[in-house]
Amino acid sequence: MRTVKSIGRRIRETRMFVHAMADAHHPIVAQVIPIRRCNLACTYCNEFDKDSPPVPTAEMIRRVDKLAELGTSIITFSGGEPTLHPDLDLLISRAREHNAIATIITNGYLLTPDRIKRLNAAGLDYLQISIDNVLPDEVSKKSLKVLDRKLEWLAEYAEFDITINSVLGSEVKQADDAYQIAKRSRELGFESTVGILHDGNGQLKPLSSEQMGVYERIFGLRSGLFSFTHHDRFQQNIVRALPNTWHCPAGGRFLYICEDGLVHYCSQQRGFPAIPLEKYTREDLIREGMKPKGCAPFCTISCVHQTAMLESFRTQPKETLAGIINRRKERDPSWNVPASIRTLEWMFLRDSKTRNLFGALAMKAFGIKRSSANMQRSE
Ligand code: SF4
Ligand code: SF4
Repeated sequence: MRTVKSIGRRIRETRMFVHAMADAHHPIVAQVIPIRRCNLACTYCNEFDKDSPPVPTAEMIRRVDKLAELGTSIITFSGGEPTLHPDLDLLISRAREHNAIATIITNGYLLTPDRIKRLNAAGLDYLQISIDNVLPDEVSKKSLKVLDRKLEWLAEYAEFDITINSVLGSEVKQADDAYQIAKRSRELGFESTVGILHDGNGQLKPLSSEQMGVYERIFGLRSGLFSFTHHDRFQQNIVRALPNTWHCPAGGRFLYICEDGLVHYCSQQRGFPAIPLEKYTREDLIREGMKPKGCAPFCTISCVHQTAMLESFRTQPKETLAGIINRRKERDPSWNVPASIRTLEWMFLRDSKTRNLFGALAMKAFGIKRSSANMQRSE
């Protein structure tokens, strides 16, 4: 069953990719908050409270439907702690009914074998857990020691893909913890990523030489072919506290929907544009997505970086793919370009006639209709 679901997921991911390449004005990712409450209280976090109720299920269903109407490819339920919502499974199923890829970001505390099986049944595609340290401390209880049994249950029962995020930065006491967490993740067959934390004033500081050593060791662990860890052009600068030059597509390709149903750029830029989702239109997507964001140079929001990289495949396919291949080769000169990347090379680095023909065939194969606005642009 796990293999069948995995193949189905890869096909739907490919569909998502083709859709993202074909239409510039639908959200690739929407992060939705079904509940602001959290059962933990990490001291660095500004995304939770201790007492708010879950968003009523009927309202959440309307929000998922509206995101589908906007053409959203990936719907991520986050929080607070999303597993505290009593109807999370229903919301996941609804996203899947709309052919969206359904994901959750959780602290993992409430996972049990039964809860994991119910997430399987709901059709969850991805689950991400952030683990901050090996042993709990006053900053965070999201600890490998506390969560390891949950990770073993996930390895045994989950039919969805799992990513474990560890963290480095000036607020993290034991840098080597990030390596231990990444190593354990790979042992269990999960993907792993590393996040870089701001300091207490929200500023990025370059990683110390010890932290940099840990970061490089994590890179040395084998990861999946398309692991963002290896292709992330942003993190190379973030770890050195250097600015990135990029356009943040939040408000267009990425949306953050708070518990009040307002659209914001991201979790750290709440209040902009703060338009009710029910009134959000294609014009809003285009206008807000194109707006320059002053916070972009030092942004550390990885899911928006990933969205921007996908978008750069559409706008600058040659440069993006060449960048991915070159960054990987710089780190590992013996790396051979695998067949799947060669296929992408063929698709994107050939002349535009070949690309257009491939695009048309892929759209047909996946049943995607190109919007009339997009057709005008491409003609
Ligand atoms: S578990 Fe997540 S949402 Fe809850 S307090 Fe910690 S970082 Fe914030
Ligand atoms: S640049 Fe980063 S922080 Fe600013 S709006 Fe975009 S995602 Fe949010």
